[in-house]
Amino acid sequence: MYSVRMRSRRHSQHHSGAERLVPSDGVEQVAAAMIRRALHHSRGQAETIELVIDELDSEQIEYAVLPDVQTWQVSDFQQGRRAAAELLCSLGVSPTAVETAFADIIRGAAPNGGNMRGAMLVDADSGGRLEPDPARGVRVSRMDLSAEARRELSRVLQQQNLDREPVREALVLAAKVRMASGIVAELCWSDDPDYTAGYVASPQRGYVRFPTLKPLGDQRGGRAFFVRVDPRSLSVLMDFLQQRPVLFDRIGHLLPPRVWRENSS
Ligand code: AMP
Repeated sequence: MYSVRMRSRRHSQHHSGAERLVPSDGVEQVAAAMIRRALHHSRGQAETIELVIDELDSEQIEYAVLPDVQTWQVSDFQQGRRAAAELLCSLGVSPTAVETAFADIIRGAAPNGGNMRGAMLVDADSGGRLEPDPARGVRVSRMDLSAEARRELSRVLQQQNLDREPVREALVLAAKVRMASGIVAELCWSDDPDYTAGYVASPQRGYVRFPTLKPLGDQRGGRAFFVRVDPRSLSVLMDFLQQRPVLFDRIGHLLPPRVWRENSS
């Protein structure tokens, strides 16, 4: 197996990225698809594309199951944000930490007010930022679906008209994040101006998707990983997220969508 990673930049800013784990005979095809994606992105054409391909020791690969997925219907992005905030609080994230993370993503969580390349690590109690580099954040890497799980996931997601690349990719990323010890929950919405959906994922409640967490056309997006860890274990958590290869070979359940009502989660 190989890890294939792509990261592109435009105007000296993060532009797009992708992560796959593939057998050696799939590397060329996957690498070409990643380059195509960086060249034909809705945010414009990449100026710099970096591709990193590493052979993996197959003994190191962990096999795991995807979380259950449920969509919570909301009427607009403001209601989506209230629903996501309420869910995060019910998962044990403090209201301060929730507010800080929302404010950071809305404003642009990198020190220059732009999007970060990776995720913020947010203390689930104090709301303090814990990632060593606040521009880069933590980039989750080395995770993918097995070929069979990919087929099965597509088949199941089609039932709710959700079988799209960004949905599958975000689900795989969130599935790895929630396996890390010390993670309480994750909040995400895309920085793609055409893609308004976002999610809250957690070990307790799986992957809860909100069709809208931002206004259409907004270039801001980001990820917050809410953690409760001994500071000495932070490097272990980051090492798991960035280095440990995880292949999802089984999918979870696709639950029927629910309509979210204020104060109902
Ligand atoms: P995307 O869902 O690809 O639009 O990404 C939304 C935001 O999530 C980006 O602006 C980054 O801050 C963050 N992000 C993207 N890819 C990763 C990753 N592999 N690991 C951690 N954070 C990421």
